[in-house]
Amino acid sequence: MEFKTIIEPFKIHSVAPLQMTTQSQREKYIEDVGYNLFSLHSDNVLIDLLTDSGTGAMSRNQWAAIQHGDESYAGSPSWLMFKDAVQNLFPYKHVIPTHQGRAAEKILFTAIGGKGKIIPSNTHFDTTRANIEYTQAEGVDLVISEGKDPSSLHPFKGNMDLVALEEFINKFGVENIPVVMMTITNNSGGGQPVSLENLRAVSAICKKYGIPFFLDACRFAENAWFIREREAGQQERDVADIVREIASLADGMTMSAKKDPMGNIGGWLALNDDDLASICRNLLILTEGFPTYGGLAGRDLEALAVGLTEVISHDYLKYRITSTAYLGNALLKKGIPIVQPTGGHAIYIDAKALLPHIPPLHYPGQALAVELYKVGGIRGCEIGTVMFGRKPDGSEVASAMELVRLAIPRRTYTQSHIDYVIEVCAEVAAHSQDLRGYRIMKEPPALRHFTSEFAPL
Ligand SMILES: *Cc1c(COP(=O)(O)O)cnc(C)c1O
Repeated sequence: MEFKTIIEPFKIHSVAPLQMTTQSQREKYIEDVGYNLFSLHSDNVLIDLLTDSGTGAMSRNQWAAIQHGDESYAGSPSWLMFKDAVQNLFPYKHVIPTHQGRAAEKILFTAIGGKGKIIPSNTHFDTTRANIEYTQAEGVDLVISEGKDPSSLHPFKGNMDLVALEEFINKFGVENIPVVMMTITNNSGGGQPVSLENLRAVSAICKKYGIPFFLDACRFAENAWFIREREAGQQERDVADIVREIASLADGMTMSAKKDPMGNIGGWLALNDDDLASICRNLLILTEGFPTYGGLAGRDLEALAVGLTEVISHDYLKYRITSTAYLGNALLKKGIPIVQPTGGHAIYIDAKALLPHIPPLHYPGQALAVELYKVGGIRGCEIGTVMFGRKPDGSEVASAMELVRLAIPRRTYTQSHIDYVIEVCAEVAAHSQDLRGYRIMKEPPALRHFTSEFAPL
């Protein structure tokens, strides 16, 4: 008998209290911080869906591994545990530990970026793009057109446009393209997966032209689960086996261990090229630390080694992907527009469709995110004109999409928490026509979504 309720494949072992607040308290808290959700004291947030990065719950085996951590400066056994766990899934010759994903990006692009270089991806994550641009190289997104359409039901909306990739290589020249990147799953594109077929094809194109191929593999396990579920001929495979095949198609990877490796901190850079690895290790020593710990404590390395064995569990991944879809499907049933199909780590509410009366430059995503906080204490993240609207020349342009992302921390909230989120979203949607936009009162020169202050219109 297969039951339809997919239960959390864990029981609660240690708890952190949620501080209950009332709507009138929350209205004051958010007014006090200029209506910027990043500025709230997180004790005043009931359900925190700001990000899935480093916010998950570790298992008892991970906490036990923390106790086992060895803090030797060089050659610690904790380092060997970590390296073996990484290479078990990603058998690259060199593993370089970093304190988080962007540190791996900084090192890689310092080594291979620079003026005149141009780096394609399905979609660069914002820190990836920022680290590329910091070296004066350029990042270009070549995701398939379905990946930019919130209502397209394509099963692999993270795929690279293969025709565009080859045209791009021929146009800009192999000598100017130090690497081709693929983000799995495609975080900035709605957490949408990339198919194995597409990864194989990108790998073949890179081989044909002699260009290295690197993965931004933060959500590799969720991506592999989607491949197993959705791609022809993959249904019987072990996720670990799919992950190893993905790894074998590329020459290296950057990684944030705050995502699928179930850590609260950590990352790595892994690659096969000896010369490049040597350059990267020297950069690592400058900013992160010695190559056997690289910005992490021995205990962190141990916790990640265990996390890597847990994330590839089919029971875990089935629960993870089903529970994200559970939230998405419930919102759709209540008539709330979201990006479809549901991705791995988050649900993206389409604020433009929900609040058609609020023009983009009055920030409908911000209006919705603030209302979800006021009504239910839920903290999501605007991904729209507040985040992307200010251009380097100072002009303000509406973003293509106005989204509010509800990211789901791993193993942290139960189904009743999510049922509560659904109820709050439905309540907000029921009075959506009463919502008003915002204007910005104070704005920093860059990355304005983190610190801007707003006022209601
Ligand atoms: C989070 C993330 C990064 C950056 O990792 P940090 O650990 O936050 O520095 C890079 N790429 C993708 C796709 C991510 O999701």
